[in-house]
Amino acid sequence: MKKRLIYLDNAATTKTHPDVVSAMLPYFSECFGNPSSLYDLAAASRTAVEDARGKVAAAIGAKADEIYFTSGGTESDNWAIRGVATAHAKKGRHIITSAIEHHAVLHTCEALEKEGYEVTYLPVDESGRVRVADVLAAIRDDTILISIMLANNEIGTIQPIAEIGEIARTKKIAFHTDAVQAVGHIPVDVNSLNVDLLSLSAHKFRGPKGIGALYIRKGTRIAPFMHGGAQEKRRRAGTENVPAIVGLGAAIERAVALMPEKTDRILKLREKLIAGLGAIPASRLNGHPNERLPNNVNYIFEYIEGESILLLLNAHGIAASTGSACTSASLDPSHVLLACGIPHEIAHGSLRLTLGEETAEEEIDYVLETVPKVVQRLRDMSPLTPKELRSR
Ligand SMILES: *Cc1c(COP(=O)(O)O)cnc(C)c1O
Repeated sequence: MKKRLIYLDNAATTKTHPDVVSAMLPYFSECFGNPSSLYDLAAASRTAVEDARGKVAAAIGAKADEIYFTSGGTESDNWAIRGVATAHAKKGRHIITSAIEHHAVLHTCEALEKEGYEVTYLPVDESGRVRVADVLAAIRDDTILISIMLANNEIGTIQPIAEIGEIARTKKIAFHTDAVQAVGHIPVDVNSLNVDLLSLSAHKFRGPKGIGALYIRKGTRIAPFMHGGAQEKRRRAGTENVPAIVGLGAAIERAVALMPEKTDRILKLREKLIAGLGAIPASRLNGHPNERLPNNVNYIFEYIEGESILLLLNAHGIAASTGSACTSASLDPSHVLLACGIPHEIAHGSLRLTLGEETAEEEIDYVLETVPKVVQRLRDMSPLTPKELRSR
């Protein structure tokens, strides 16, 4: 018998949609030309790349010539931050970001600190929101970049990006947002958000892994990231990953078209999950109650370890996560939960469930039967559990 799998880790990655795979396939075989070459076969690849660029631009309210293909969210974040820092080094070397960014942003900032840049890591409130007043207060004469994520990958909190962008624009400071968790899940428009740079990644919305884009508003000063050929207007060298670019275009068009109906359905399931898990004693919902991604549930169950919950859930066929995929290999508590003010010993006990298009109500019901049993079993085993939370 095939083991059942309930996949609730869609913030880590999603299953590439079959229509997206079909759109990609010809570009591995018949249509394999290098877009830079000068015959008809190559022109077909070139057309496919430009078609995809138009789809990405349309999905986020940008112009096609402001979209640059990259190898994914990590590269887009690295390029945005390092590229702006390099291009503005003579003007200043101060960067503002938040304490809860993805490591692709945080570790790039830390690398720049070793090279003489200064970085302010803004705190967040207990729901994981940056305070707009803190951004304003952190700005200095030598501030060259503000980078704040649109939606957090662990707790799903959505930031006041449009307001922060307004400040950045008034102060003439480049503004980047990591929108990797947001694009394809909530409406994203680069103009209403007032951003100059925006990172996105296909595999978070049913596209293939290893492809993403950086939106660069016309007029934004940024150094190239990859040096080599003349691809992407000499700003990101390397032969275009044509099949993946086609996949990104197909996936983003699809995700945006399906968003209204998909969001309604997922939101209902999310609310059911939040209510059901909230009935477990000594549990707390992380993140913001309303300003949060429609597919994100993140709970802490006191007195137990997130890793132990994951192992037992896995044995029940449930694929979930504690915080982010990137930190789960290390056993450090989540930097996001710590920044929300959650004590070190409790921050270990978090469970992140991220729903997807294919999540069914029966699956949520099964999870709501299983998680309380697993939590109780672990609490009964733990010497830390107080008597009133034990079943025996
Ligand atoms: C997944 C993710 C990234 C990294 O994107 P990759 O395409 O996997 O490199 C960056 N930022 C956030 C918020 C993410 O969720």
